[in-house]
Amino acid sequence: MVNDNNIEKLQAIIDQSSHIVFFGGAGVSTESGIPDFRSADGIYLKEYQYPPEQVVSHSFFMQRPEAFYDFYKKQMMHLEAKPNAAHQKLAELEQAGKLSAVITQNIDGLHQIAGSKNVLELHGSIHRNYCMKCHCFYDGRYVKKSEGIPRCKCGGMIKPDVVLYEEGLDQSIIQKAVQEIAAADTLIIGGTSLVVYPAAGFVDYFRGKNLVVINKSDTAKDVRADLLIKAPIGEVLGKIR
Ligand code: ZN
Repeated sequence: MVNDNNIEKLQAIIDQSSHIVFFGGAGVSTESGIPDFRSADGIYLKEYQYPPEQVVSHSFFMQRPEAFYDFYKKQMMHLEAKPNAAHQKLAELEQAGKLSAVITQNIDGLHQIAGSKNVLELHGSIHRNYCMKCHCFYDGRYVKKSEGIPRCKCGGMIKPDVVLYEEGLDQSIIQKAVQEIAAADTLIIGGTSLVVYPAAGFVDYFRGKNLVVINKSDTAKDVRADLLIKAPIGEVLGKIR
């Protein structure tokens, strides 16, 4: 349940801010029907031979691309998902000149579909895919509808532009994210438990006035938050004018 008093406090913070940065995780997309695959091991273990963390790793992708794509296409490519009230409000705030960047751990592209322009995707996107041989580009639809391992016209295997386990994050995106956070007057963290690198460290670059945490469950940085709202992010941002 969202406490109206908290909504008023958040509204006041947003009204007086001009450089809001939003940092979001899987919880931002659950209200769009995209489950967090990391928190649902049990469900997947019944259906698949390997745990999801193993399947979505670089070595597994290279060794068993067919099993990787079987899981990836079904469980991670939610091309039919629509932005929810959180994505929409953040896009509106950017258009109004109040929000300068969205930093996301999600790979679903829903912020861009909602209209956000400056989106820093730490873990890549299901909408971008490249041939490993000729670097030709393919969209998500092409990969999703391909049978088995998606192949390029040249015969090369296609790889999603998604950061798999064992792979490093794009340092230029991390650098941009840190710069945006350091310049922000308000940092809103939503839908993430903040325990995963580099998210946890990002907060330390924030020098602004208001740190807002919106999450259904406890997060590591709750203590430092100026405003903490324990509720689904779409429900909260949907009430902001
Ligand atoms: Zn190719």
